[in-house]
Amino acid sequence: MRALVKTHAGVGLELTDVPVPAVGHNDVLIKIRKTAICGTDIHIWNWDDWAARTVPTPMHVGHEYVGEIVAIGQEVAGFRIGDRVSGEGHITCGFCRNCRAGRRHLCRNTSGVGVDRPGAFADYLVLPAFNAFKIPDDVPDELAAVFDPFGNATHTALAFNLVGEDVLITGAGPIGAMAAAIARHVGARNVVVTDVNDYRLALAARMGATRTVNVADETLEAVMRELGMTEGFDVGLEMSGAPSAFVSMLEQMNHGGKIAMLGIPPQGFGIDWTKVIFKGLEIKGIYGREMFETWYKMVAMLQSGLSLAPIVTHRFPVQEYRAGFEAMLSGKSGKVILDWTA
Ligand code: NAD
Ligand code: ZN
Repeated sequence: MRALVKTHAGVGLELTDVPVPAVGHNDVLIKIRKTAICGTDIHIWNWDDWAARTVPTPMHVGHEYVGEIVAIGQEVAGFRIGDRVSGEGHITCGFCRNCRAGRRHLCRNTSGVGVDRPGAFADYLVLPAFNAFKIPDDVPDELAAVFDPFGNATHTALAFNLVGEDVLITGAGPIGAMAAAIARHVGARNVVVTDVNDYRLALAARMGATRTVNVADETLEAVMRELGMTEGFDVGLEMSGAPSAFVSMLEQMNHGGKIAMLGIPPQGFGIDWTKVIFKGLEIKGIYGREMFETWYKMVAMLQSGLSLAPIVTHRFPVQEYRAGFEAMLSGKSGKVILDWTA
């Protein structure tokens, strides 16, 4: 089968042939239809320090996809040949305390599809059936292919009650833009999104941000004055990984504010802890998606009118994967879809 393989340490990926993976007793075999490129895949493409430390070679990568079940292990119940599925990319151990308590997203022994084990940028993916998630017919392939990052956005945005709240989202990458759509959908008042990239801010505006702010050009304080916000934001969603974004978020939170942190800073950094203490802030780290509560919420939100359509900005047949990675690397993209049926 075809796969996008990191053949050796270094930049790029190669579209080449690898064996179809064997299906274990508890697995499903998924014929991939569409995949999406994640920021993680860009780290792997660039072969940065994290990727070089983490990803074994040779291996094919990718973890955002939709496909169809074409084979089922003998112990698997609840799935049928022909089911259209995406899947949870965090493979959890099942025996640690959190797994046994149903908090799979907090498993301390997680391994990642397309990071620690072969991924979805291939004609076929083998996945434990536990991790597969059936996609209802009314959800199009393109959106099903981005359930993984949509799940990050959902897990983060729904970490705190947003009804009637003023929400600050730092970072208008695909996940921040989807979080803006979710915040509006569930009833936030002001949804202010910051970035330093005008293309992405325009995307966040199309997705439902009520005000976008290029922090290189204007200050959050001025925008808050313009909006009549005299006290500060009720909820912050950190989705940039930029230390300066988090520092300014701390500055602009109201007392008693709540922050959900998804963005991954490149390294540790200092903050003024008195902001956290004297404001009585609540800060929650967010990892992955809740299995599978987040997945059910995603479907429910789409079926109750959440629109994510603008998030897919580029589509390529898989043979043109280099153009897809270039679109992602340019910073002028939302989600980029690679079509494996082409
Ligand atoms: P992305 O890199 O596409 O988006 C980040 C955005 O932040 C970019 O548009 C960038 O221009 C913007 N940015 C940079 N400096 C900024 C600043 N000072 N203020 C505001 N915005 C700024 O990433 P993404 O795919 O949308 O993911 C968002 C973040 O979440 C990333 O840090 C990613 O690593 C992280 N992530 C975490 C998890 C998790 O499980 N915790 C999962 C997926 C992604
Ligand atoms: Zn576990």
